[in-house]
Amino acid sequence: MDQKLFDLVYEAVVNRESTYEGVYYTGVRTTKIVCRPTCRAKIPLAMNVTFYPSLEDALHAGFRPCKRCKPDENGALRPDAALAMQVDAIIETQYKDKLTLPQLAASLAVSPYHLQRTYKQVRGYSPAEKTERVRLTHAQRLLLESNITISEIGTAVGYGSPSHFTSWFYRRTGVSPTAYRNGQREGDSLDEQ
Ligand SMILES: [Zn+2]
Repeated sequence: MDQKLFDLVYEAVVNRESTYEGVYYTGVRTTKIVCRPTCRAKIPLAMNVTFYPSLEDALHAGFRPCKRCKPDENGALRPDAALAMQVDAIIETQYKDKLTLPQLAASLAVSPYHLQRTYKQVRGYSPAEKTERVRLTHAQRLLLESNITISEIGTAVGYGSPSHFTSWFYRRTGVSPTAYRNGQREGDSLDEQ
C-alpha cells in the first residue's frame, strides 16, 4: 500500500468513518489485534498500523479479531456487496472511458487484486465484463431508439474506430450493428401485422 492510500484509510480510521468498512482491516502491530476501520476503541498510532485488504490476510499474519468491533462477525452491512455496487455505479457512469482495473481500484482505494476477486465473487463475472455488458446495452438501445450513425454509436459507447466497434458488437451478439438495427426493426413491423 502506498503512503497516499495509507494516509487516506488512516484518516478514515481516525474519524471512524465507514468508507473502508469491509474494504480494509486495521492490524495493530503492538497488540496483534485486528479491527474494523470503524472500531470505537482507542485509535492506534499510524506507525503501529498495517492495513489488510481482507480479514483472512490479517489472521494469517497472526492478528486476533478485536473483541470490541468483532471484525469476524457479519454486521448488517455486506461489505463485498457494497463494494460491487460501488464498482457498478462507477462503470454505469463511466463506461465510455477506458477505465483500467488499477484505475477503478484506485478510485475506490482498494487493491486491484482485492477488487477483481471480490467483484467476481459477488457478481460471477469481472469488472471488465461488466463494462462490456453496459456498453452493449447502451449500443443496442441507441441502434433501436435513435437514428445516429453506427460510427457515432461506436464513439458514444467508447469505441473510437467504427470497424473496432462493429467487430466487437458482432463478437458479442453474432450480428453486425446494421443487421441488428434492421433485423429488430423488421421484426417489429412483422409483429404489427
Ligand atoms: Zn476493534
